[in-house]
Amino acid sequence: MLLYTHPSMLKHEPPRGHAEHSGRLKAVLEGLGELELERREAPWAERAALERVHESAYLDQLEEAFAKTEAGIVQLDPDTFISAGSREAAYRAAGACVAAVDAVCAGDDDMAFCAVRPPGHHAEPNQPMGFCVFNNVAIAAKHALARQAMQRVAIVDFDVHHGNGSQTVAEHDGRIFFASTHQSPLYPGTGAAYEHGLDHNVVNAPLPAGTASAAWRAAMEAKILPALDAFAPELILVSAGFDAHKADPLAQMELDEGDFAWAANALRKLSLRHCKGKLVSTLEGGYDLVALSRSASAYVGALQRD
Ligand SMILES: [Zn+2]
Repeated sequence: MLLYTHPSMLKHEPPRGHAEHSGRLKAVLEGLGELELERREAPWAERAALERVHESAYLDQLEEAFAKTEAGIVQLDPDTFISAGSREAAYRAAGACVAAVDAVCAGDDDMAFCAVRPPGHHAEPNQPMGFCVFNNVAIAAKHALARQAMQRVAIVDFDVHHGNGSQTVAEHDGRIFFASTHQSPLYPGTGAAYEHGLDHNVVNAPLPAGTASAAWRAAMEAKILPALDAFAPELILVSAGFDAHKADPLAQMELDEGDFAWAANALRKLSLRHCKGKLVSTLEGGYDLVALSRSASAYVGALQRD
């Protein structure tokens, strides 16, 4: 298992008290510390990779906003802030996912985990959203299609929030499969079961507050995994957000780290069936530091055990 990260991602600094802070990445790396991972430096994403997902005008606006961070923190949307260190962090977060795709396609290893921030799955082609600046996982999917000559790439998103930005990208590209379990109602409000993209390449399993292990696993088994199996992807990307944990302060689901390990096993099985094991996961949410640390460790550890 490869681990892509970079110390610059600790220097993306939203205002004090913001839920998405650098302690999260430290907690994840601490949790992964006991596992045998080959650590690699996350490179900067190239503009061409970003432009496969994001509109050029949006990238230009962002550059103007990054320039303003020299004078202090800049607010991009109600929840999303950037600081002087955010430009490098964001470029390397997207670059980690792109490099991880290239590495698993080159056969360096069959799996990679990208321990990155800012997260990505809410970022839309034309706007930042919900702590996210670049849509890291969607950029990785588009890169795999464009540069690794793939025809079918899957994104599975078990973050407790719906990955609206990733879904938008799949809604415009039938070569991308997007499936999500998420709490509903909850931010960002998208991800209804009837949203099914182009020819059902989008699968949503909205779940009520209070959903615990058995019902969440049942939804995965009934909706997400069979659709993923039928899509037969050449690569599985995972938006690994751990905020459906029962200890998480931003949502009200009742999962624990054993559920993330269970998901790892199920996704690993399908990656072996369809993708020669190729599976790239990237960190999204997770806001209780102890739960986040344990969950990341349980998830990556379970991926490695098979
Ligand atoms: Zn989330």
